Amino acid sequence: MNTFIRQSYDAMFSRWGEQHWWPGRTRLEMMLGAVLTQNTAWKNVEKAISNLRKNNAMSFQALENASQEQVVEWIRPAGYFNQKTDYIKRMIETIRRDFDGSLTRLFALDTPTLRKELLSWKGIGPETADSMLLYAAKRPVFVVDAYTKRFLSRHGWCDPNASYDSVARRFTANLPEDVQLFNEYHALIVRLGKEHCNTKPRCEGCPLQVFL
Ligand code: SF4
Repeated sequence: MNTFIRQSYDAMFSRWGEQHWWPGRTRLEMMLGAVLTQNTAWKNVEKAISNLRKNNAMSFQALENASQEQVVEWIRPAGYFNQKTDYIKRMIETIRRDFDGSLTRLFALDTPTLRKELLSWKGIGPETADSMLLYAAKRPVFVVDAYTKRFLSRHGWCDPNASYDSVARRFTANLPEDVQLFNEYHALIVRLGKEHCNTKPRCEGCPLQVFL
């Protein structure tokens, strides 16, 4: 049992409390958010999502009917818009073709099969797939991002070159399988990364300073 996994959570939660982070109103919105957030800050994703909402494009049908150029315009604030439009259009096409256009059918797959399916889609790597699994499908998978690996490795709790899956396993093997807990923990790590454990660490006053 890696007690630091639990202790780090407790230290951050007792300092900052609940983060109220749930990235989207619908399952589709959460899937789009997972793609749009690749290589950009969430505030840019919010602008893209707001454009989609304003244009009544936050639906399977609307995204299916929209031209590539139109989707590019809507999601432009999120950056890498041509690439992300391609991923989104292909995602919609795959769900239509293989799951009758139904997220309910897609999410009826068991977690390992669903993860394998998502990872087979163009542009969907482990972090994006796991964000979809955690937020949209509400599965107890741990989302690992750059902040996660950074704080663990700075404390000597993982190798800086550790694989995505091995870092995720550190969490899932040492925590109860609890979607809300995994969501909260990830949100706390994001706050930790923004406020303290960024490219240049600010350990003074950090809730994890006691573990150095
Ligand atoms: S800022 Fe310092 S104390 Fe805080 S998590 Fe990073 S390395 Fe640890």
